[in-house]
Amino acid sequence: MALIVHKYGGTSVGSPERIQNVAEKVIQFRERGDDVVVVVSAMSGETNRLIALASQLQDKPDPREMDVLISTGEQVTIALLCMALKQRGQDARSYTGTQVHIRTDSAHGKARILEIDEAKMRADLQLGRVVVVAGFQGADEEGNITTLGRGGSDTTAVALAAALKADECQIYTDVDGVYTTDPRVVPEARKLDRITFEEMLELASLGSKVLQIRSVEFAGKYNVPLRVLSSFEEYSDSAGTLITYEEDGMEDALISGIAFNRDEAKLTIAGVPDQPGVAARILGPVGDANIEVDMIVQNISPDGSTTDFTFTVHRNDYTKTLELLSGIAYELGAREVNGDEKIVKISLVGVGMRSHAGIASTMFKTLASEGINIRMISTSEIKVSVVVDEKYLELAVRALHAAFGLEQKP
Ligand code: ASP
Ligand code: MG
Repeated sequence: MALIVHKYGGTSVGSPERIQNVAEKVIQFRERGDDVVVVVSAMSGETNRLIALASQLQDKPDPREMDVLISTGEQVTIALLCMALKQRGQDARSYTGTQVHIRTDSAHGKARILEIDEAKMRADLQLGRVVVVAGFQGADEEGNITTLGRGGSDTTAVALAAALKADECQIYTDVDGVYTTDPRVVPEARKLDRITFEEMLELASLGSKVLQIRSVEFAGKYNVPLRVLSSFEEYSDSAGTLITYEEDGMEDALISGIAFNRDEAKLTIAGVPDQPGVAARILGPVGDANIEVDMIVQNISPDGSTTDFTFTVHRNDYTKTLELLSGIAYELGAREVNGDEKIVKISLVGVGMRSHAGIASTMFKTLASEGINIRMISTSEIKVSVVVDEKYLELAVRALHAAFGLEQKP
């Protein structure tokens, strides 16, 4: 007998029939003797519908009222799921975030969970009830309703699992796990049985949008075993992908996955005087404008007195950054500013890199043999990233997937 937290996303609760499926799944776990706490999202499309309503009434909807509004989607689902459970003879109780004291800071729209009082949930579990909690929401110290950012129900689930010291947090979604890369790009992509928190963080932040990044951080910090699995398939103990701590045997794989990001753009300011403080003068105003910088490369030019500075930002910030940079270039007496929106970042991720040399060179050789030019490179302990022209994305990812033999179990 275990205590399991289940989380069902919008598609899994998108209609009354699907909610009935969820009820059946939950009951299967009860029949095995497990205690179950369920976190649900709003029915698919609902949060977007609410956001669209708001924008018809106020140009920049008030953040506090926005949270009151968009937290309602989840309240619908908790009630419906409890009804489906009771219809099947399973006692259940629904709770909003406030009712189980999910206390957050006051950052509306992106609040962080500070504390959870799990006493009420425990009491219900003791009575044999299934506890159903609204994801994505909490309340600040003053009782104002807050939300945790898009996709935030994942974080609610992990936070509840941590507070309850649950045996596992299972995230049910419309894919059956985490893959070596996006199967739409590489049909041979393989589902991973296990992956570490660290690797998942890299894969999530690099664009494999399976889980809210914050939920993975939270799971790593509190050591909550996290399983991603499909709500449309039969459960088995090895279903989906388990995200957990690094263990012996996990390093058998050099590379766990290939992530890519089509949302980046690259900018260069060339011929900047090579003096102390230049990087700060360039990136300071960019940061002040709330633009996040990802990769940064600085080159020394042949004359030794000037330097070229290249960095990437989100594509949505490209035009704004280009404008900013033109102003900075003028002030610094730089030679020119140019940019490219049609680039992608591709990253190899794997904890096995720590103990193996030569990953980067295999990557570069593979790209070279396909005639793909590398525009930027960056590395960290468990990741090598390159920027290439957008038109090479598919070719590059397929070639790398094959070169590292990712279609086969290590
Ligand atoms: N309903 C919220 C959203 O659509 C939270 C979630 O689904 O996790 O972002
Ligand atoms: Mg989601």
